[in-house]
Amino acid sequence: MLGSATIDQAGEREARENDPAALNDSRLENQIYTFANTLEKFEKQLKQAQNGQTVEEAENMHGGAVWWMMAVAVALIGRDNARLYTRVTDRERDDYEVQMFIHCTLDIVEDKLSKANELYLGLLTSNHKHKSYGFVTNTGVKFILVLSLANTTLKDTDMRAHFKRLHLLYTNCLSNPFYELGKPLKSRALDEACNELFRSTPADMSGGFSGVVRLSNVNDYIAPSQACVIPLKPTLEQPAATEDEQLVSTHSKKPKTDKPVVKVSISLADCLACAGCVTSAETVLIEEQSVQRAIEGLRAAKLGVVTVSASSLASICTARGWTMEEGARRVTEFFRAKGARVVLDASVVQSLALRECWQEMRERIEQREKGGAHRPLLVSACPGFACYAEKSHGALLMPLMSRTRSSQGVAGVLVKEYLPRLIAASSNGPSLSPADIYHVAVMPCFDRKLEASRPENTAADGSRHVDCVLGTAELNGALSAFLEGREEEESMEVDESPELARVEEALPEEITGFMRGALLGLDGNLSGGYVEYGIDRWSAAKGGAVRVEETKAASNLDVIRVFSTRPGEEEERPFVAARVYGFRNIQNMVRKLKTGKKELEYDLVEVMACPSGCANGGGQIRAATTQERNRVTEGVERLYSNLPRQPTTVPSIDEFRASIEDEKMRMDLKDVGATVNANLAW
Ligand code: SF4
Repeated sequence: MLGSATIDQAGEREARENDPAALNDSRLENQIYTFANTLEKFEKQLKQAQNGQTVEEAENMHGGAVWWMMAVAVALIGRDNARLYTRVTDRERDDYEVQMFIHCTLDIVEDKLSKANELYLGLLTSNHKHKSYGFVTNTGVKFILVLSLANTTLKDTDMRAHFKRLHLLYTNCLSNPFYELGKPLKSRALDEACNELFRSTPADMSGGFSGVVRLSNVNDYIAPSQACVIPLKPTLEQPAATEDEQLVSTHSKKPKTDKPVVKVSISLADCLACAGCVTSAETVLIEEQSVQRAIEGLRAAKLGVVTVSASSLASICTARGWTMEEGARRVTEFFRAKGARVVLDASVVQSLALRECWQEMRERIEQREKGGAHRPLLVSACPGFACYAEKSHGALLMPLMSRTRSSQGVAGVLVKEYLPRLIAASSNGPSLSPADIYHVAVMPCFDRKLEASRPENTAADGSRHVDCVLGTAELNGALSAFLEGREEEESMEVDESPELARVEEALPEEITGFMRGALLGLDGNLSGGYVEYGIDRWSAAKGGAVRVEETKAASNLDVIRVFSTRPGEEEERPFVAARVYGFRNIQNMVRKLKTGKKELEYDLVEVMACPSGCANGGGQIRAATTQERNRVTEGVERLYSNLPRQPTTVPSIDEFRASIEDEKMRMDLKDVGATVNANLAW
């Protein structure tokens, strides 16, 4: 019975291939099928609209966390290009557009097929909204999976697994004796598999981390409910067992003590101090530092302050075709509508971080000139590298690391410890404690969320210097909703109480320049400009003729030698600075440091975890392909380099520095491996 059905089906297919009329029928069938699908989708959207919701509102919002759509559509297309099965997610507003996209994709499949050496065809094509992946069976049936262009979390291995599953379900359908080969497929199992693919899942939060943190597996985020090796304190002291007490009891006994039981909680800071996690989870991260939390915090606080990094602003402006000045004004408008009163440019405080770091460098040069050992200064402004250094090579790298805080760290001190004083000192300014201020930082990577949780980044009253860090892409998503008026809640006007209205007046213009679109451009790239500043300071200190030799030692590894000669004197040992970006280069550097190789005669090393530095940070707005990503990164750097360069000395920041203890400018880096080994009982 099955055999004869198969022969009939094969015969029918052959007849259809050879008969133009049958082929036309199949195309017509295909179009009717597409039209029916679109109609069904339209009805669903209409129903949602009648309930006062758009499909996106109903399904795409999940507590404000970032959610990615797994897949947009799945299509199975027969050897003769007749549609066997198509399913498009209900979230897609324009079903017809997706159907057309699938149709256009077919040409690429044909092209790829001629070169394919496996069933999985990889990325087929993309347009401004979608991208498609392909798979072809041995019998020529094509599988197309359409994803949103913004979805960069799925890798080829994931795609292969999804196609494998779809293929298995397809072969199950073929085994159905009632199925007529070449006819549209109806399968509940296939529908369910597609629904699973369409279902939103939380964005792969690890995607926002730098490669160093992901690859070296030091992102120890752990949900408190999961197994954790941190010794839980306080432990209740058990009273000594009396002789007549049973040694083994099958019933739990309440400890005989009057001491109250204190609820144990494990914070991110605990996780950071420990390298012993057995699992990684992003729950805490999503809950503690999301757009929704940021908005809630800004609205609830007496004073909301936001610090925006130049990398984030440049990434948003590149994606949206804005100038940096326009971007600054729009971002300010967004945050002010969310309750923030002050928006700061992180570059303003970066100028101070550069000077602090150079101070450390100068001390090392002086030590060396007095006959001390040569110790390169590794810039620790990148939290991805700092985290890796602490947890993986603490003993080797800690003595070399700079202790200067990053721009985010310095901004935290400025906002939580200096602004309250400045505001109080101004005539009739309100008296604010650090906890009264909610501080949000917009940064190019999630590693900065780790940094914000470090214990030293805490004010005297226990509040964090930076309460919430948002990745660039997170802000961009919220900005889209704001600009398109898709938000659920009404924007809020900033509290115009006369006391708070004076807050802005109390702040120097340089600090509030961002809100007017007046941005500070520093020498160097978006990763901070430590190398440029070092070269500038060293040349100024040496005087005489300066010769700079820059070598590209490898991709993302630049070595700059600066020679200085004074008249009548011999050329001195050059000042050697290097930009070491990306995990591979960092590993090579560590290897050389271990073996004491000559090449590491660097004085100052700007170490950044991301290849191409912060412009290409894990939290930036990502392009789909490596080629596009490189182009975007170049565009982001170009936009920043177009800003007028300004002197790194900002008078109001000097005043801030003069009023803050040295300790507040330092990070408390330590060899975490050693600390954990010493602390853990085993
Ligand atoms: S290089 Fe920049 S973006 Fe990348 S982890 Fe370091 S600080 Fe973040």
